[in-house]
Amino acid sequence: MTAIDGSAGGRPQGNVRRLPPPVPAPRPTVGLDIGGTKTLAALLAPDGEVLAQARLTTQRGPQAVLAVAARAVEGVVRQAGLDVAALDGVGVGVPGLVGYDDGTVRHAVNLGIEGAPMPLARLLGERLGVGVVVDNDLNVAALGAAHLAPEAASRPLDLAFLALGTGLAAGLVLDGVVRRGTGAAGEIGHVPIDPAGPLCPCGQRGCLELYASGTAVERLWPTTTGQPAPVELLAAVTAGDPAARAVWDAYADAVAAAVRMLVLSVDVRHVVLGGGVAQLGAPLLDAVQAALTRQAARSPFLASLTMADRVLLAPGRVPVAAVGAAVLARSTSALAVGPLPAAPRQHHAAAHTPRDRAGEP
Ligand SMILES: [Zn+2]
Repeated sequence: MTAIDGSAGGRPQGNVRRLPPPVPAPRPTVGLDIGGTKTLAALLAPDGEVLAQARLTTQRGPQAVLAVAARAVEGVVRQAGLDVAALDGVGVGVPGLVGYDDGTVRHAVNLGIEGAPMPLARLLGERLGVGVVVDNDLNVAALGAAHLAPEAASRPLDLAFLALGTGLAAGLVLDGVVRRGTGAAGEIGHVPIDPAGPLCPCGQRGCLELYASGTAVERLWPTTTGQPAPVELLAAVTAGDPAARAVWDAYADAVAAAVRMLVLSVDVRHVVLGGGVAQLGAPLLDAVQAALTRQAARSPFLASLTMADRVLLAPGRVPVAAVGAAVLARSTSALAVGPLPAAPRQHHAAAHTPRDRAGEP
């Protein structure tokens, strides 16, 4: 007879029953997407399900941003009948220059954070008593889109989240991991596509951003009714306005160029359209896919890459970037900054803010 401890019967000796150290049960995380107008929160269960969502109005300035962030976390946790102490961590996506490693926000014009860097991870961690990790909003949006992709459970994914907002940039997840580089990864908006084109705020001419961003739509089809320019443009196209049709087709071609750039450089399985213009939904997706199909008709090489099939809309039922921030809180708990000594002060003189547009039109 063999006893439960593996000894051949008789009395157990000393410490024969060596149990492994107890593995803590996985706990939920909260993700925040702090945009220029609203702060979105998502409570994510260990199995990946979104348990609760919340939406608060963002207020500008470091203290106000911090207070709203804390309220958003507490509110979404309370909705699920939990307490902040039950969390494994909190992740935050911020539109601006973010120090991922030290949890600082260095420059976020839309949030009124300029000048001295704000140690958001440390301050929010102290306030809530839980580890906090902070990242750029496009990175968490890409992570959220990868988490929500149909095949996410089966294998690590290559995916780009292409934000058609004030600017044009992509967040990249490669083999399931956010590609950060030194901060320039995915900045395809500043790849020039027309050397004779207009001057870009970055100092170059004819950057892709000047043709494919939300700002480009506003420039090419100035709004006259007070609605967002993309909404007005689409209405004019639907009404049969030939000038609107020309602008619309050129815009779809430019977004298709961005998709092509992402697929040809890192061969992502999905390019997810997000940002303000993507709120147009299916008509935008159809137009971009039609542009890619037109281009592929002239090129067997492009046709072989099935680019039109790779383009998706960001899912509308959940706040993608907040979900991604919650995923980030889970996967990087070692990095999550709890109460820590003050981060070193740095002054960042950013003439150009590269990433401030995942959510805003
Ligand atoms: Zn540029």
